[in-house]
Amino acid sequence: MASKELIHKLEQTIQNIPDFPQPGIQFKDITPIFLNPKLYEEVIEDLANFSRGKVDAVCGIESRGYLFGIAIAVALEVPFILIRKKGKLPPPFVSEKYNLEYGTSEIEMREGQLKPGQRILIHDDLLATGGTTEAAARLVEKQGGIVSEFSFLIGLKDLNGAERLKKFNAEVYTVLEY
Ligand code: AMP
Repeated sequence: MASKELIHKLEQTIQNIPDFPQPGIQFKDITPIFLNPKLYEEVIEDLANFSRGKVDAVCGIESRGYLFGIAIAVALEVPFILIRKKGKLPPPFVSEKYNLEYGTSEIEMREGQLKPGQRILIHDDLLATGGTTEAAARLVEKQGGIVSEFSFLIGLKDLNGAERLKKFNAEVYTVLEY
């Protein structure tokens, strides 16, 4: 678990933008973290400590999942695999559809980067409804990966994303919650 001091520093740094990008959404702007390299380093250490020795690769979700995901993988000395939105990766790739509030979306991963049997950490910056993360986990399982952990910088408690991820029997870690 993150120290009270780290959580406090993050609460002071992350900005809440009401009604962005739509009325009713409390948007969490994490970009001020990157103005403070020392704080960024502490966040990576905290996220890496949670997964140390327990995963064989990290999958990061586009695009803010890359900001911490690559650094976590480097700290753990394991491969980093990008999960991208549809249409960005050259073939061959594997894809997974998921439902949005209106319509559907799709995420993709280069074929062959994830090896069957690998224990995977799925990382994103923020857990809201868990819809994107759930699709990422299905994409990992489709290729024979074992979803062993989920980590996020932020969890939005009221949206119950963690509940939705329970079916994967993996640990869920959030540095701080709102
Ligand atoms: P979900 O699939 O509902 O869990 O949504 C997670 C994705 O949406 C993450 O990649 C976040 O970057 C983004 N997101 C959702 N809600 C917010 C929010 N309130 N503030 C910032 N990003 C958000």
